[in-house]
Amino acid sequence: AKALGRGNYQFYSEEMNARTLDRLTLESGLRHAVERGELQLKYQPQIELASGHIVGAEALLRWYPAGQDLVMPDAFITIAEETGLIVPIGEWVLRTACAQQVAWRRAGLPALRMAVNLSARQFRQPGLDAMVARVLADTGCHADALELEITESVLMDRADAAAVTLQRLSDMGVQLAIDDFGTGYSSLSYLKRFPINALKIDRSFVSDISSDADDGAIAGAVIALAHSMGLTVVAEGVETRQQHDFLRQLNCDLAQGFYFSQPLPAAALEHILIDGEAK
Ligand code: C2E
Ligand code: CA
Ligand code: CA
Ligand code: CA
Repeated sequence: AKALGRGNYQFYSEEMNARTLDRLTLESGLRHAVERGELQLKYQPQIELASGHIVGAEALLRWYPAGQDLVMPDAFITIAEETGLIVPIGEWVLRTACAQQVAWRRAGLPALRMAVNLSARQFRQPGLDAMVARVLADTGCHADALELEITESVLMDRADAAAVTLQRLSDMGVQLAIDDFGTGYSSLSYLKRFPINALKIDRSFVSDISSDADDGAIAGAVIALAHSMGLTVVAEGVETRQQHDFLRQLNCDLAQGFYFSQPLPAAALEHILIDGEAK
């Protein structure tokens, strides 16, 4: 038993070492990712359910460190947050996404609204509104063609400061969406305090929407209430035809998910836009 105990301990500490090393490697790599051109954006189309047209895209970050495998955002966004690297990385994301939106517009493709994720740290960064204004001016992106996504928890924490920041962005004409709606603690009535344009219903509610009566009822109620407050509703993580049909019946406005398309490189989405609709 003693030997086993020691063995376990050793295993545990080695694993800890590996994790610490991993973190340090990630952190130092991430520090240079922007300048080395290792970051890329993929774009996942957002479909208007009533028409089947692609009306928007969400920009999703990917990291390709030289000589290594692709790193997905869940593996590095937290580290980027904790180190503050999310601030320059986030600005790069915004600039790249806005420039892409303008490139598609100038190419005569159907106008897409570009959705960009903002992390908590970015949202609280002083001068965020000035940074957004500068990027819009530099790229020529119209404010209402940009939608910034923030999570409920960002609003709940220091709500008064959050309201001021959101109002500034809203006054500029930027669209604002609540990401992962339903996973936090906020209620729709609480959201009335903020100048929000859209709600994104989290994937966890969408997955059982057509098979679980409760999930279906919750989604229906959220959509109806959101509409009564003038909000657009986006369903995330739509993977099946059943989910699609169900959401359409509930008058959900937009949807995104693997049923329509994975997140795509810009050129691939461009081909879909040229050829016609996703579904
Ligand atoms: P999110 O904002 O909730 O983004 C949606 C995630 O769901 C994406 O994962 C997307 O690829 C995935 N997804 C889309 N459709 C489906 C589907 O039908 N089924 C399933 N199972 N998944 C689907 P991804 O790209 O790995 O991003 C993960 C998270 O990382 C994002 O969650 C977001 O919180 C964060 N993130 C990604 N890009 C950025 C960024 O540029 N800035 C910041 N701050 N966070 C980002
Ligand atoms: Ca998002
Ligand atoms: Ca989400
Ligand atoms: Ca998420």
